[in-house]
This record gives sequence, structure tokens and C-alpha cells, in this order.
Amino acid sequence: MEEQTRSIIQQSLDALMDNKLFLPDLKEDMRVKAFKSLNAILSTPNQIHKSFLRLPLENGEVVRIPSYRVHHNDALGPYKGGIRFHESVNEEEVTNLAFLMTLKNALHNVPFGGGKGGIVVDPKSFSDKELHRICVKYVRYFNHVIGPDKDIPAPDVGSGEREMDWMMAEYKKINHGKPYLGSFTGKSVANGGSLGRREATGKGVYFTFRYLMHDYLNANANNLSASTNPFAKTALSYANRPLTVAVQGFGNVGSVTALEAYKCDYIKNKVVAVSDRNATLYNAEGLDIPALVAFTASNRGDLPSTEEQLSSAGIIATIQPREDILTMDIDVLFLAALENQLHDGNKADIKAGIIVEGANAPTTEEADNYLSQKGVVILPDILANAGGVIVSYLEWLQGRETQFFSEEEVHNQLIAKMKHTMDTILPQYFGDPFPLRQNCFIHSVMRLSTVLYRQGKLY
Ligand code: NAD
Repeated sequence: MEEQTRSIIQQSLDALMDNKLFLPDLKEDMRVKAFKSLNAILSTPNQIHKSFLRLPLENGEVVRIPSYRVHHNDALGPYKGGIRFHESVNEEEVTNLAFLMTLKNALHNVPFGGGKGGIVVDPKSFSDKELHRICVKYVRYFNHVIGPDKDIPAPDVGSGEREMDWMMAEYKKINHGKPYLGSFTGKSVANGGSLGRREATGKGVYFTFRYLMHDYLNANANNLSASTNPFAKTALSYANRPLTVAVQGFGNVGSVTALEAYKCDYIKNKVVAVSDRNATLYNAEGLDIPALVAFTASNRGDLPSTEEQLSSAGIIATIQPREDILTMDIDVLFLAALENQLHDGNKADIKAGIIVEGANAPTTEEADNYLSQKGVVILPDILANAGGVIVSYLEWLQGRETQFFSEEEVHNQLIAKMKHTMDTILPQYFGDPFPLRQNCFIHSVMRLSTVLYRQGKLY
């Protein structure tokens, strides 16, 4: 796993080791050994499965496609995590993402472990027929390690409802007569998916931000204004005023986040920039987000990237290089593309005072430390982007029971869960000088450690 991940586990365990109220039965020598065991368990995945899918192309050639399913930890329940379709997928990345799933589920008390999958393809360079074959092959090659009670995949970058529908159909075929609705989440509603799943991650990302900047700050303004905590000072300096917003990535997560920010009645946002793999679009007066969502729906997910496309869609914006969005002079930056977007090379140019991680691991350790020391409020991935896995859990439950919730019920349960986590974490965050990421990691590691100890895994 990545060095950043290992060091975060170590820091969390160090903090818990010194807290004698945590697992008080563990004393002296036994305590030292148990914490060493925890480090060994959490910093290593349980299994890494790798296959080379054999894919006959439409032109008659056969290619081999590397693909992965990583099982990080299942102490809290069956493995759970998306399948990424991207040309840069590799074993280390998938392993790290599986680890983040373990922590995310522990943080939000979702009864799943952490897993992740990846297929090394650029989906835009394959025909629909070839993509269908890739999905079918993935299920055939990994059928022995997935299933409703073992490991439940979901969409991630480059995959969506269509791919989950195809994969579930293949799972059903191979496992004839067995329950199959809980084998994949993120399916279409017509195929046993949950109402509200497609929008869940983006809505959760925006809710996390809104809850902090509106609900929580207003309810705790008096305490926080007397606080010397650097993050409380930053947050209060942005409270109750119009905010300029930029959203990097305009796929499943980014487009819904941008739309939520555009529509929000609680905070006066102006979404001045959005970006995708091709370009950044900027308009100081605010972009027409619904028009951009409609455009991407009919353009294979891509934003307009030429003057002709902009004018034919009636959208007013300037087109800039895709990386420009990261260093713009804005108040809030939502990251909803890929990992390692804020790094050593651009950290000093970031101007946003609030960063919300819709993507997984978009900030490197160097950038994270640098920005946190400056007092930038970073809402970390495992806190902000858990909406997808929370509603995946609801989809899995509905599939098992074949009883389906209304969209409102799903939304209310999503918000209640995220609010509960925020209410647990935020007082700690504003009460001590640690960045929010560290608070969240400590909380997750605490839950995992307790369960591992109770399950007798530390001896
Ligand atoms: P997606 O494939 O739907 O969208 C990805 C977006 O990022 C696209 O707009 C693409 O053009 C853009 N992009 C790709 N490379 C880029 C680059 N170099 N610079 C700028 N933009 C770039 O993927 P998604 O499902 O929206 O996932 C986005 C992130 O959110 C990923 O990190 C994913 O792991 C994370 N996430 C997704 C979910 C979910 O439910 N889909 C849940 C939790 C976390």
C-alpha cells in the first residue's frame, strides 16, 4: 500500500496507544503487542486477486486485459467497493482504494469491509459490444471471490449502471438459482437498483460541505468564534456569505455535486468553474450547470470543449486547460476526478480555503500537510464521499428483502447517517488542532481495532 496510507495508520494507532481509556483491558506488554498486530493487519490486504481477461476485439484480434479485485479487510462485513475502468489502474492503486473503503465503512458504521476492483482499460476506446464482453469476463474470472455475502462490487470511475446490470446478469447466469440481487450495487432501478443510488455520492459530498458550513457553524457559532482553532477561524471566515465554487471532474460524482451547489438555498454559491478530462470551463458570473448536465448526457459524458459545442448548447464560458481549475481564485474546491490532483508541484498555488474530496485520495500527503498547516479546511474522502456506499448498503438490503424504499426514504436514511458521523467527528475536529482527516482515521481505526480485538484477531 502507499506510504501515505501506512503512515496514517501508524499515526492513528500511536494516538490510540497513548489513550489508556481505549481498550483498557490491554495493559503494558500485551498492549504493545496488540497494537503491533493491528498495524500488521490494517496495513496489509487480506488478498489480491489478479487476472488477465482474454478479450476478442471486433476487429478479430485478441487482447489480454489486466484486472484486479482486492480484498482489504472484512472484519465489519462482506468486502465492498467499486470497479474502476481506467487505463492507469494498477495493483497499488486498487489496494489503496480498498483500504480506504475499509476505513470509510468503519467511519460511517456501514456493516461492510473494504474491497476494490480495477480493469486496465480506457472505456472510451472500446465499442459497447467489447465493453459488454469485458464485464462478462470480469465476472467469470472473479466469480469465485464475489457474491452477496462475500464481496459486493459497485461502479467507480469509468463504470456505471449499465456495467453493473451486465455484471449482475452474468453473475445470475453462473450462479443459477442463488440470490443475485445483492451481488452488485449501483444497478439501474429497472434491474433491482435503488432509487437515489446514482445521485447518492454527489449529494452526500455536497451535504457534508453544507452541513459544516451552514447547519453546524450556525448552531455552534458562539463556541467557535471564541476558539483559537485555525480550522474554526477559516470556516467562520467563509460562513454566511456568497461563495465561489469550482468542481473538478464532471462525471457521476462531480456533475451531481455541481448541480447541488448550483441549486442550494442554504448557501449562496456561484459555481464559476467545472472541469473534466479535456478542459476547464470558467464563467465569473456562474455557469449554467443544468445546461452542462444536459450536454454531457448527450456527449458520452464529456463537457463541451470547443467554441462550436459551447455556442450550439447556448453555454457562456471560457475554455481553459484542465489543470487551471485547481489553482483558480475561488473559495471552495470540490475534487471529483482522480487521485493525486493536489500535490507538491501545485500545493503553493491552491487558493481555495475549503476543499471537499469527492474523489478518493485526490490530495497527496505533502499537499495535505502543507494546506492543513495553512488552516485550509479539507473535508476528506472517507467522510465526504461515503454517500455511494451508504446507499449501496440500502440497495443491498432492498435486494435481499426484495422490498424497495421510496426515493425520499433512501435520501432521508443517507442524510441521517452522514449527519450522525459529522456530529460525532466535528466537535473533536474543532476541539483539537488535528486536521479532519486524522480525526476521521482515528475514529475508523478505533472501531476496527475494537472489533478485531473482540473477534480475537490480535493474538
Ligand atoms: P466518472 O467516470 O463518472 O467521472 C470522472 C470524471 O473525471 C469525468 O468527468 C472525467 O472526464 C474526469 N477526469 C478524468 N481524468 C481527469 C483529469 N485528469 N482531470 C480532470 N478531470 C478528469 O467517475 P465518478 O464515479 O464520478 O468518480 C469520480 C471520483 O469519485 C473517483 O475518485 C471515485 O473513486 C470517487 N468515488 C465515486 C463514487 C461513485 O459512487 N461513483 C463513490 C465514492 C467515490
